[in-house]
Order: sequence, then structure tokens, then C-alpha cells
Amino acid sequence: MNKIFETPLYPYERSPDQDALNAVRHPVVIIGAGPIGLGLAIDLAQQDVPVVVLDDNDKVSFGSRAVCYAKRPLEILERLGCGERIAKKGVEWNIGKVFFDRRQVYDFNLLSEKGHRFPAFINLQQYYFEEYLVDRVRELQAEGKPIQLRGGNKVAAVGSHPTHVRLEVETQEGPYEVEADWLVACDGANSPTRRMANLDFVGKIFEDNFLIADVIMEADFPTERWFWFDPPFNRGQSALLHKQPDNVWRIDFQIGWDIDRDEELKPENIDKRLRAMLGPEIDYELEWSSIYTFQCRRMEQFHQGRVIFAGDAAHQVSPFGARGANSGLQDTDNLAWKLKLILDGRAPESLLDSYDVERIHGADENILNSTRSTDFITPKSEISRIFRDAVLDLSEDYSFARPLVNSGRLSVPCTYDGSPLNTPDALDGAPARTRPGSPCPDAPLGDGFLLDRLGGAFTLLTFDTDAEDDIEEDGVTATRLALTTADDPTGALAARYLGDAKAAVYLIRPDQHVAARFPEYNEAQIRFAIRRATGKE
Ligand SMILES: Cc1cc2nc3c(=O)[nH]c(=O)nc-3n(C[C@H](O)[C@H](O)[C@H](O)COP(=O)(O)OP(=O)(O)OC[C@H]3O[C@@H](n4cnc5c(N)ncnc54)[C@H](O)[C@@H]3O)c2cc1C
Repeated sequence: MNKIFETPLYPYERSPDQDALNAVRHPVVIIGAGPIGLGLAIDLAQQDVPVVVLDDNDKVSFGSRAVCYAKRPLEILERLGCGERIAKKGVEWNIGKVFFDRRQVYDFNLLSEKGHRFPAFINLQQYYFEEYLVDRVRELQAEGKPIQLRGGNKVAAVGSHPTHVRLEVETQEGPYEVEADWLVACDGANSPTRRMANLDFVGKIFEDNFLIADVIMEADFPTERWFWFDPPFNRGQSALLHKQPDNVWRIDFQIGWDIDRDEELKPENIDKRLRAMLGPEIDYELEWSSIYTFQCRRMEQFHQGRVIFAGDAAHQVSPFGARGANSGLQDTDNLAWKLKLILDGRAPESLLDSYDVERIHGADENILNSTRSTDFITPKSEISRIFRDAVLDLSEDYSFARPLVNSGRLSVPCTYDGSPLNTPDALDGAPARTRPGSPCPDAPLGDGFLLDRLGGAFTLLTFDTDAEDDIEEDGVTATRLALTTADDPTGALAARYLGDAKAAVYLIRPDQHVAARFPEYNEAQIRFAIRRATGKE
């Protein structure tokens, strides 16, 4: 059994706040040290924003939970200082295969394009993911960055005021109070903060159960995602197989709605399912098992006054498509730079409205994809099942049917089309994938990669054209990254950012999304674009 589950990584320690006469005020307090709370805290601390994370627990997640992490979150994590480590530990995969009954009917390659630093996906147990984020917190603390992680600190009440938020925190040594200019609730799907604020979700609950078995075994399945519809070992249902590090295999069995949970979780019953799938001779150890149901839903607004919601607290999806933690990290990527500018007085508080607009757009896209996958995987009427089975049958021989097969459309970052922070596209002939609102695709640059050079600040990216080195507009500086065709040995940069255009000037936001693009440098246009991207126009 993996000992990480049991080891307190951030045990309770008394904080000076508990001995203060009056509640101490912090710029940002985060509730929850899950992947999203930790990711946000690291991002803020790297930008020198003092941040306190409160968690009622002191350990990482029990069991594998989120196993698949997509390319974009890995790129974000690299900016946070731990992408490479996480990717290295993870099991890399790009290929998925779909089986129907006994036949393979379909396969796909998620990363057919070359010239990216990170793979399409890695598999890694959530406990490792969280452990590496905690290690990164410790590194930042050693560097003197202003980040505190307080285990055994349960938030019991939240009071929202026009200028701050007041929290009551329970500890083993009694309660204390603390204040925050901004509170970010990353307290998970059952978010007590959401309940305390009387806010609820809109969306759909799915009536189905899935049994997860994490088994340790030596097996020679390739490192691919395998999905079965109606397999002989789980008739009428589906199953999923994924490889994780340390020879741990994640197996999900759909088991239907009307079940006896306690019976299903008995080791002898899990063993029957595993042997039916893997064969009677298989030698394995069960590391973790659980039954999950899921919802596809979100809050109507992601921030209310000075309380902001991110990750599962704000939105939830089914696991098909690996969109939970992946999209939560994109919330933090979107939020951290906005909070930094607001706290520094360099952007108006109304900039946070764009967090709602952009991340609700992302959540809706995820919920739509996740709902469609779920409807395909678990058809709710006889006619839907007949359609589903016909698509699977046809997809073996006919390519037109393959796009209809949906065993989980896997997480991709969302483009913020229609965002109030975008300046209308002015670069004729350039590819749509880098239009304003898009996440920047990576590209090789000599011996490095573009996204490393963009970093986490406003950048003026110029190709084959002159411009000012840095441009400062109302406290916000965009630093120039001047590139030419000589920097682009593979041609990937030109293909992704120029297309048929001869030259280009891009304004890139700190979260590496395109804010504006032009055919040439024009100071007034760039100044306008910076103002717009910071909520001032
Ligand atoms: C079976 C399964 C498979 C999944 N697979 C994937 C996948 O492959 N890819 C993917 O991206 N996502 C996946 N997910 C989703 C992923 O696990 C979640 O999206 C992710 O954990 C959300 O992180 P979070 O930080 O928002 O919340 P959580 O991880 O739930 O963390 C919330 C934290 O808040 C703390 N907390 C709660 N209340 C309080 C309080 N009152 N005071 C202080 N602290 C509090 C909790 O202790 C916890 O540490 C899966 C989920 C499940 C269940």
C-alpha cells in the first residue's frame, strides 16, 4: 500500500494569527489544498502576492482520483515550476483505442502534431500530483516567497463584507478568526463555502455508478487508453483501462444505478470483476477501490463580491474526458494574474468579471463535451442504445462514423471567443488557432520552446517586424520577444502564428492567451490592446 496516503505532508502547526488580538488581514486566503488551491497559491506566491492556504486535512488525496493530465495544464505547471517533474513521473500516452464487444473498432492519436514540449497526456495518480505541488510550496517557502500552507485548519464560517472577507477557522487548539482582501474557495465539489453563501449549481446529475479498482500488477498492455463498450466481461456496460506509474493500473467498470455499494466494494466481488476482465491467472494487489457517481454542472457565477470560486467548487464534470483538475488549473491560470493586477492597483476590480465570463465559457464547453460523452457511454433509452451500437459497428469499417464515437472527448484548453479582454483580430491570413482569446500553441525555438520564453507576464511577440522593446501603459508593461524566421528552424512557429501573413505583432497575456494581433507595430493600437486586456476599455 502506498504510504503517501497516510503521511501528513502539511501537519497542523500553530500560526501567529491564532495569538493576535485582532483578526489578521491577508491579501489572499485560499480554502482547500487540493490541486486547484495549491496551483493558485503557487502562482500567486511566484508573483510575490502573500497567500495563505487553509485545509481541514493534512494529507494528499486518498486513491488515484484524477489520473489524466493534458498538455495545457502541464504547460501551466511548468510555469509554476513543476511541470517537468510531473511529466517525468507520469506515464506518457497519445493513443486511445475503443473496443465494442470483442472487437477493436476505432483508435485515435491525440498528438499527431510535432513541436510541443509536453505530450498530449500523462497519467499520474492525484496523490503524486498533489505531493509534487506541496514540494513546490516548500521550495518557494525556502526561497522566502510569501506562501503559507496550514493543515488542520477547517473553515467553519465565512462573512462577506464590501472591503474584505472574515473567516472563522477551527483547529485542534481552538478557533480563531482571520481576514482576507480576497477569498478563493477551492474547497471541492461539496464546497462548504458555496453552501455557507447559499449559492447553488445549475446542471445535471447522472444516474449511474462506476467502480474504480487501482491494481498493482505486472502486465504487458501498451501505454494507451483502452475503452470497452459492452465487453464480454461487463455485459451491457462499459470499462476503461489506464496505466499509471509504479505498475498501478486504473480500471473503471460501469456498474449501473441500482446497486448495493457495500456489496460491490467487497474485495471478493471486485476480484470477480477483475478476473473476468484480466483472466483467472492474473496476480495483482488491490491498491484502492471506490465507487463514484457524477454530475455535469456549474455555479451561475464564479465570484460574488470578494469571494471567488475555482475548480470543483465552481464546476463539475464526469471523469470521461479528464476535464476536472485540468480545467480547474485553467481557472487558476486565468485568475492569478488578474488578482495580482487588482491587488497592485494596476487594474480595476471589475477585471474579475472577465474571470466569470471566460471561465464560465470554459466550464460550459467542458460540461457540454462531458454530457455528450456520458450520454453516448450510458445511453438512457433503447433508441439511444440502438444508435450508439450502430455507430460503433459502422466505425470499424467506415471512417464517416468514427467522429460520432464518443468514449470521452479529452480535455483541450478553451479559446475565449467573445471575451471583453480581446481586441478584434487584425491579422489577415493568420491561422484561426492563434486568434484573440486562444491559448498560445507551443513551438520549438532553437534549443528551447516558445512558451518558456513567454513566461507569465504581458509579452509583445513580434515576427519579422520592428517594434519598441518594452511598452508600458498605465502601470502594465508588455516586454518584447522579437523573433525572426531564423529562430524557427522547423517552421512550426510560422505555421502556427503567421500562416499567410508576412509579419505579425501579438500581445500575449500572462496566462499565455492571445489578447490581440496585428500585421505591424502601431503604438496606439498596442496601448489600446493593453488597456482592454486589463479591463480598462
Ligand atoms: C474517479 C475520479 C476520476 C477523475 N479523473 C480525472 C482525470 O483523469 N483528470 C482530471 O483532470 N480530473 C479528474 N477528476 C476530477 C479531479 O479529481 C477533481 O477535479 C480535482 O480533485 C478538483 O480539485 P479541487 O482542488 O478543486 O478540489 P479537491 O481536490 O476536492 O480539494 C478540495 C480541498 O478542500 C478541502 N476543504 C474542504 N472543505 C474545507 C473546509 N471547510 N476548510 C478547509 N478545507 C476544506 C479538502 O480537504 C480538500 O483538500 C476525477 C475525479 C474522480 C472522482
